[in-house]
Amino acid sequence: MALLLIRNNKDYEAWIDALHEADPSLEVLTPETAEDPNSVTMAVTWKAPNGSFEPYPNLKVIGSMGAGVDHLFNDPSLPKDVTLTRVVDEKLASDMEEFVLTLCLSHIKNLPLYRNLQDQTQWKPTQYKRVPDVQVGILGFGTLGQAVGQALQQTGFQVSGWSHSRKEIEGIKSYTQDELDNFLAQAEILVCLLPLTEETEGILNASLFSKLPKGAYLINVARGGHLVDADLIEALDNNHLSGAALDVFHTEPLPEDHPFWNRKDILITPHVASMSNAASVAPQIAENYRRMEKGEELKNTVSQKKGY
Ligand code: NDP
Repeated sequence: MALLLIRNNKDYEAWIDALHEADPSLEVLTPETAEDPNSVTMAVTWKAPNGSFEPYPNLKVIGSMGAGVDHLFNDPSLPKDVTLTRVVDEKLASDMEEFVLTLCLSHIKNLPLYRNLQDQTQWKPTQYKRVPDVQVGILGFGTLGQAVGQALQQTGFQVSGWSHSRKEIEGIKSYTQDELDNFLAQAEILVCLLPLTEETEGILNASLFSKLPKGAYLINVARGGHLVDADLIEALDNNHLSGAALDVFHTEPLPEDHPFWNRKDILITPHVASMSNAASVAPQIAENYRRMEKGEELKNTVSQKKGY
């Protein structure tokens, strides 16, 4: 019985090494080395091309090598009778905390503005905000959203989170689905950390922007599919939003002719907020493989019904 790795970039070496480090007895294969497809019982993948799982009739588990699972559901031939898993990892969470905290501080201290003014040789002191005076709203208050929320709160920001179910976290106000408008009304910085599902696709649109306070700032570190690009441009052009930091895009790399590239009010980063680290993540994959073999409950499972 074997574990199969499928990565869109075919970059396998670090993952095979890390999995062998986690469990030297694991047989780890790739599509290129899996001579007997019947031996494959679990696959872990990052953006496998559609149809990649079809040759393996004995698959019981398919895992995402990252926190996001939208790439699994993008494949219409994803088997319905397998257990899906994903990554929940402290390093992934702390990297995301650092990234979002940096963006929030940089925005309230006007650093992107000064970078642009420097290009024009302009000396123009501008009023900044203080951390305790700023409200940050986190759309998607799950594993990463809560980690980010707590890091921001410990830094002194006022923080609230929005999710399906209510969360009990001291000092952070939790809003549920039907309270979206109240949640948005006070979010001076809006951070999107939702999973991309049928329900959340296109949620960052003109209607949502209109419910944010004037001058709000958008940080999207979730998925490009959450954002309606044209609506963001309109909200920036009419000065309802003051700017945006975008780490994720509908098409990645962001096409050269995309209007976002030329905007001084948009900070573009190349999907680097938080990246799965093979050494950190391999032990939970090996653990799930052992659990699957023993018929035990798996860790970090994903609901096929909810899509996250
Ligand atoms: P989780 O599944 O732990 O959290 C998702 C949160 O979103 C939950 O709080 C859930 O509510 C809430 N949610 C989902 N659908 C809805 C909805 N329709 N309405 C209201 N709330 C909803 O995911 P993670 O925190 O681990 O990851 C979030 C996303 O971050 C990933 O899916 C991925 O796309 C992105 N990501 C981006 C990275 C980057 O480098 N840019 C790196 C890693 C992840 P409830 O808790 O009630 O179920």
